[in-house]
Amino acid sequence: MQQQMLATVNQTATSADGHRVEIAANIASLAEANAAFDNGAEGIGLFRTEMSFMDRETPPDYAELAELYTQVAIRAENKPVIFRTFDIGGDKPVDYLSIGDEENPFLGFRAVRTYRRYQDLFAMQLQAILTASAHGNAKIMIPMISNVEEVIWCREVLAGVMQEMNHAGLAYNAGIELGVMLEVPSVIFAIPEIAEYADFFSVGSNDLTQYFFAADRGNRQVAEVYDNYAPSFIRAMQFAAQEVHRAGKWIGICGELGASPDFLPLFTGMGFDELSMSNTAIPGVKHALRELNFTKCQQLAQQTVQLKRSAAVKAALQTPDVKAV
Ligand code: PEP
Ligand code: MG
Repeated sequence: MQQQMLATVNQTATSADGHRVEIAANIASLAEANAAFDNGAEGIGLFRTEMSFMDRETPPDYAELAELYTQVAIRAENKPVIFRTFDIGGDKPVDYLSIGDEENPFLGFRAVRTYRRYQDLFAMQLQAILTASAHGNAKIMIPMISNVEEVIWCREVLAGVMQEMNHAGLAYNAGIELGVMLEVPSVIFAIPEIAEYADFFSVGSNDLTQYFFAADRGNRQVAEVYDNYAPSFIRAMQFAAQEVHRAGKWIGICGELGASPDFLPLFTGMGFDELSMSNTAIPGVKHALRELNFTKCQQLAQQTVQLKRSAAVKAALQTPDVKAV
């Protein structure tokens, strides 16, 4: 088994009958990017860039970020790298941004919601990503989007940064894609309008589950409510994939659920374009994907969305008939 998994490292991630699902990595550093590509990652589906903003007294500067992002983009050798702009606040406060004491930090001043107040910092980070885009396939992804207005505003800031770089004669990819994290449930019902301004979507299933069920992702006392097998959650995921594809856009999953063996046939059958996960999970998921039959996965998805109990969903996902024979 170990040897079979090693053999899949350099193979393209497809089902046995040739349906493509990109298998990508979640990273927070250059070292993790190296490990991801060594493990067969087909791209970086989530670069948690806020790690460079934490555990320090002042924010990083442009030179530091541009250097790091460029190195990762070069290491990726033209495979896509999705740079998630800083997701600070909530569970990740930093001292130099005055987020303030909040009764409900997870429902408060977090991620994109802080960008208007800290516009210079956001613009500086965008410039660093644009700089990296001259050296590889860099993409931008905005965390915690709740409505289309936030996306429009981010695009305006991006256009302003591009204009400044034009004046300064700095190189970047003018066609760089800007995507949206789908982790606030309101976005599920705003996909058509958001898709007019977003090139792609990626489900942050850790936060989406938390906000969908109003159950803290880290609180064991409500772990039963935080239930990815719940029929409501399964239908939400199917609806999101359908809506994004109806709009002609791409949708991935970059939360922990993307690496779950139980959910791999389901998400494949629902048509998700990418699953992004920690680098150690990649060889096993690629190997499992290559044993699947896509038509059977589609049938599993159709059947599972009809189920009415979490236990029934779990049973269906844990004993599926989805393998190629
Ligand atoms: C998520 O919410 O699923 C996600 C990928 O982002 P993070 O875990 O960094 O909040
Ligand atoms: Mg998140």
